[in-house]
Amino acid sequence: MRRLGVTLGCTLLVASGVTASASGSAAGSGTAPDDSFVSAGGQRVDGGELNRAARHSDLSEQAIEALLSEDPSARLDSGDRLKFVDHLESSPATDDAVVARASAPLAKTFRLHSRRASHHTIYLDFDGERVCGTVWDPYGCINAPRFDTNGRRGFSKSERRAIQRIWRGVVEDYAPFDVDITTERPQLDDLVRSDSSDTTFGIQTVITSSNGVRNRVCGGSRCAGAAYMGTFDSEFHNDGRVTWILPKEVRNNPRRIADAVSHEAGHTFGLSHDGTSRSGYYGGHGIWGPIMGASARPLTQWSRGQYSGANNKQNDVAIIARNGAPRLRDDHSGHRSGATFLAPGKARSGRITRASDVDMFKLRTTCRAPLTVKVRNAAQSPNLDVSLVLKRRNGKVVARRNPLSTAHGKAKGLDATYRGKRRAGVLFVRVDGVGARSPRRTGYSDYGSLGSYRVSFSSRCGAKRP
Ligand SMILES: [Zn+2]
Repeated sequence: MRRLGVTLGCTLLVASGVTASASGSAAGSGTAPDDSFVSAGGQRVDGGELNRAARHSDLSEQAIEALLSEDPSARLDSGDRLKFVDHLESSPATDDAVVARASAPLAKTFRLHSRRASHHTIYLDFDGERVCGTVWDPYGCINAPRFDTNGRRGFSKSERRAIQRIWRGVVEDYAPFDVDITTERPQLDDLVRSDSSDTTFGIQTVITSSNGVRNRVCGGSRCAGAAYMGTFDSEFHNDGRVTWILPKEVRNNPRRIADAVSHEAGHTFGLSHDGTSRSGYYGGHGIWGPIMGASARPLTQWSRGQYSGANNKQNDVAIIARNGAPRLRDDHSGHRSGATFLAPGKARSGRITRASDVDMFKLRTTCRAPLTVKVRNAAQSPNLDVSLVLKRRNGKVVARRNPLSTAHGKAKGLDATYRGKRRAGVLFVRVDGVGARSPRRTGYSDYGSLGSYRVSFSSRCGAKRP
């Protein structure tokens, strides 16, 4: 157990109710005769506090006032830092509450990395932590027991599978970015940012099954997570690098826990909530919901507020990329001239990192025969809805495959398969991230349709390199 830096800086974070800076509360929010107002969370906040909150943050006083006025989960702490205490809805996701299989050997559960070479880290800390001298308790320690779903000693097989499942979900949410999602304890140095020239930093997400810790960091029950705002790349806020996830509040559902981790990490990148005028958190529609809302729907994505009634137009992806996890470089050319060769029976992996990203592959069949081309996105918690277009050498479209996404518990129709009989020759496979229906009411745009996939083909008569 180690402690995470105590260097207190003065900055803006989104705060919770535990250490409310303001005393007193009034019914409803609104501006009082002096320069103070009562926030949606019931805190009285004056101009001095707003000024201090804004001074070292990326947000203006007006932006912070708007945030506090509209979002009950946004608070200032006793140091006038902004934090969020998230009362995410507890309705269980209907898919994969039971994790059937792990993606890596169970013995490697605490050594998982999504991008080991990255200098930026989101550490998923499941094995308990003693957190001392941080914004959560500046002069004391919080002893957080481990993630525990059965009350028995040690991590069971099913707990290890759940941990791997949670890790997978977070990996997919952050697939477009240069950040390592890991279950392996990093060196403290690798999380702390000592000054602006230090390029290696990250956050620690403590996932604990303790009601006591929940009450302490959230100031009460019904809280699935809490985080300070804008800490990820800040050299001034190393004591705000710990975020909290309380899995019991989402009934230990691995998919919901993964969503909560991505959501709280999102706050540390500077994201606030996707809600509406009626609700602090948008619950989604159809199969879709925004990560910065609170949704148990099968497909959760980053958002820029394209749904009907959206109160937050933050460009999530651009903000994450700007505040500590740059967007990854494109891995496959989108042009036929630079297409990646595809050998028969051998899948290639790729990722869609922005809405405009298109990846092109090239294959060659040697006889007239049945041909199958598959594009599979992540097996668990995909954010990417793919379309597949087959083209000839001259660019003429042979076939398009983009099944309409649906959900019966789990999202379906997000990947794409072509099956047909083709004569010998070269074909190009164009892979794109797409939306479905209208993002305003029943569907989603291609904005958050990002993530990893694998593309492969098989032909009855074999194939050779073009
Ligand atoms: Zn939140």
